[in-house]
Amino acid sequence: MQYDYNIVIIGSGPAGLEAAKLAGKNNLKCALIERNKLGGICFNWGCIPMKFYIQKLKEAKKAGVYITLEALYNEKEDFLSSGCYGGNCKCNCRYFSPPTIKG
Ligand SMILES: Cc1cc2nc3c(=O)[nH]c(=O)nc-3n(C[C@H](O)[C@H](O)[C@H](O)COP(=O)(O)OP(=O)(O)OC[C@H]3O[C@@H](n4cnc5c(N)ncnc54)[C@H](O)[C@@H]3O)c2cc1C
Repeated sequence: MQYDYNIVIIGSGPAGLEAAKLAGKNNLKCALIERNKLGGICFNWGCIPMKFYIQKLKEAKKAGVYITLEALYNEKEDFLSSGCYGGNCKCNCRYFSPPTIKG
C-alpha cells in the first residue's frame, strides 16, 4: 500500500505544531489539518493574546495614556498576523485548513 504522507496531525495548536516540527526534523512527510485558525488556542485566544494585552496595559498605565479596547484589539491582531504562526509556520508541512478541505 502507498501513502502520500508518513504522518497526519490533527490540530495546529502548540502540540500539533511541535509534532509537525519533529516530523520535519525526522524527514517525515506530514499533513497538518486545522479546522479553525493556525496556532490553536494558545496563539489566537490564549497565552499570546493575554500576555500581549497585559504588557500593553502595563505600558499604557506607566505612560499615563488611555487606550481603547478597540485599539488594543487591533494592535493584537496586527501583532499576531506578523508572527510565526500567522500563515508563516516553518514546519515543512502541507497545511489543510477549511478553505482547502473539500467534501
Ligand atoms: C485565556 C487563556 C490563557 C492561557 N495562557 C496560558 C499561558 O500563559 N501559558 C500556558 O502554558 N498555557 C496557557 N493557556 C493554555 C494553552 O492555551 C493550552 O494549554 C494550549 O493551547 C494547548 O495546546 P494544544 O495544542 O493541546 O491544543 P489547542 O491549542 O486547543 O489546539 C488544538 C487545535 O486543534 C484543532 N482541532 C481540534 N479538533 C479538530 C478536528 N477534528 N479537525 C481539525 N482541527 C481540529 C482546533 O481548532 C485547535 O486549533 C491559556 C489558555 C487560555 C484559554
